Amino acid sequence: MEEAVWHQSIQGVMVKDGKNIFPISWLSRQAYCEYQIFLENIKGVKVWDTKEMVTGTKKHEKLFEEHKEKATEEGSVEEFLERARKEKVSFVLRELRVIAPETGLHGSIDEVVINPTYVEIIDDKPGDTAWPGNIRQIWGYCLAFRECHGPDIPVVGTMRNRDTRNRAWTERMTPEHEQAMKEAIDRVRGIISEEREAEPTAQANKCRKCRFHTQGKCDRSLALAANQHI
Ligand code: SF4
Repeated sequence: MEEAVWHQSIQGVMVKDGKNIFPISWLSRQAYCEYQIFLENIKGVKVWDTKEMVTGTKKHEKLFEEHKEKATEEGSVEEFLERARKEKVSFVLRELRVIAPETGLHGSIDEVVINPTYVEIIDDKPGDTAWPGNIRQIWGYCLAFRECHGPDIPVVGTMRNRDTRNRAWTERMTPEHEQAMKEAIDRVRGIISEEREAEPTAQANKCRKCRFHTQGKCDRSLALAANQHI
């Protein structure tokens, strides 16, 4: 089997065994406006990270450093799954890299808690509101984890407030979630393979907050159209 390699022209996409594998975070962007993916990663439009994005990256790095200071165990995910089952204990892993060519996703999971009877996949976000895009991204992590490590116990997705550590949303993944995710993943794959065009959002309020609009880089911004009619 081949190693995954970076796509030659689409930033962020990997290729393994002839299959395109895109970043799991794109599922969240797709729920917000998939035209962002087209602009930044296919057309190559450059935009600056927002202050919130820079702060988010720093906070995640801090959480990872804190975790490394506390960690006492070493081993593979499979070994931890086995030990959790036998010893009836839980293990916490942080920044777990997953590359799942069948599912079509790759990324790093903020935190994985391996319990004796279920695995919890945690995504740390600023705030307590689980938006549809956040949930879609979490299911993406759950699917990729399952393809990579195949636990025969339930997988639960959780969104946690990265500042208060409050579990704001948590749900067990079901076949219905998987089917909905398959459709979402196929849509993004269609954009990558140019079988379909990325659709811009129909909501001007999303455009107003979008960095492609605020940095003047989107030709389909509804906020732009609204301003021009004033
Ligand atoms: S400005 Fe609007 S249409 Fe353009 S990428 Fe942002 S959200 Fe999408």
